[in-house]
Amino acid sequence: MDGKGFQALVAQLGDLSTVQREALIAALKRKLPVDEAVELIDTRFCADPTCGHCGSRDVRGWSSQSGLKRYRCKDCAKTFNALTGTPLAQLHRRDAWLAYAQAVADGLSLRKAAKHCGIALDTAFRWRHRFLTTAKDVKAKAVKGIVEADETFIRKSAKGSKRLVGRAPRKRGTPAKSGLSSDDYAPVLIVRDRHGATLDHMLPDLEAPTFARVMKPVVAHDALLVSDGRGAYGQFADHEGLLHIALNASKGERTYGSYHIQNVNAYISRLKDWLRRFKGVATHYLPSYLGWRRMIEREGDLTPARIVMQAMPQAST
Ligand SMILES: [Zn+2]
Repeated sequence: MDGKGFQALVAQLGDLSTVQREALIAALKRKLPVDEAVELIDTRFCADPTCGHCGSRDVRGWSSQSGLKRYRCKDCAKTFNALTGTPLAQLHRRDAWLAYAQAVADGLSLRKAAKHCGIALDTAFRWRHRFLTTAKDVKAKAVKGIVEADETFIRKSAKGSKRLVGRAPRKRGTPAKSGLSSDDYAPVLIVRDRHGATLDHMLPDLEAPTFARVMKPVVAHDALLVSDGRGAYGQFADHEGLLHIALNASKGERTYGSYHIQNVNAYISRLKDWLRRFKGVATHYLPSYLGWRRMIEREGDLTPARIVMQAMPQAST
C-alpha cells in the first residue's frame, strides 16, 4: 500500500480510541493476518482499556469471551472488549467472521463463503453488507484535469430481497433485451480522472439535471470533460463553463486528438467482469458493490485486515 492509501485508511479510523487505532496501524504495517491483528489490538488495549460505551478509564477486568478479554466499566457498569464501539463488535462469532473476511477478500460467492465459514446463508448475506457499508461511502471528493464520464447499465435484480434460505431467489436478473429500459437496467454514471480518482453514482433516470446534480459537487471548475456526447454532459459543461470534448460515439468516434473515454470505459469493463462472479447483484445493494470495486481499484486486492479496517467506523469529518 502506498503512503496515500495508508493515509486514507488512517483517516477512516476517527471513532477508534488511540489504543485501538495505534494497534491497527501497527498490525497493518506488519501486514499481519486478521486474527493476529485482532490479537494485537487486544494486547495493546489491555495496557490501557477504555470503555467502548462511555470512554471511561475506570474499568476492571471481567472475563474472557471468544478469546477477547472482557472488561467492566465502573462508571457506566457495562462490559466491553477491545472491539466494543466498532461495527466489528456486533459480529459475535469472531472466528467465523475472520474466516469470512478472508472469503470476502477472495471474492467467494455468498453460498461458498457461508459454507467455508460454517455460517447460515442469511448471516453471510448480512455480514457481507456490514463489511461493505463503509466502502460504499468512500468516493472521490474531486475529479480534476482531464475527466472522463460515461454511463453503464447494470441489469436490475431483486435477488435476495425475499427469502434467502431454502429456495431460489424469486427473480435473479431479467432476461437480456435489446433495448435498455430503466425497468430492467440500473444506469450508473462513472466519472474518472486521469489520476484514477473515481466517482460512481446510480442514476434514478437519464435526465440532464440528474447528471448535473451528481457531477457538479465533484468535477473541478477548470476540468476538461470528455464524454460520449450524450446531451446531458454538454448541458452540464455549458452551465458550468467547462471545456468539453463530446465524442460522437454513435458515429464510432473513439478519440479526438489525445482525448478519449478509454480510461473510464476500461474501468467499466473491469467493474462488469468483476461483478460477474456474483451472478447478479441485487440492485438494492449495488452501491455496496460499486464501493467494493472502488476499494479494490484504490487499494489493490483486499487482505482480510483491510476489510476489517473498512468495517471500522469512519471519521466524522
Ligand atoms: Zn463506561
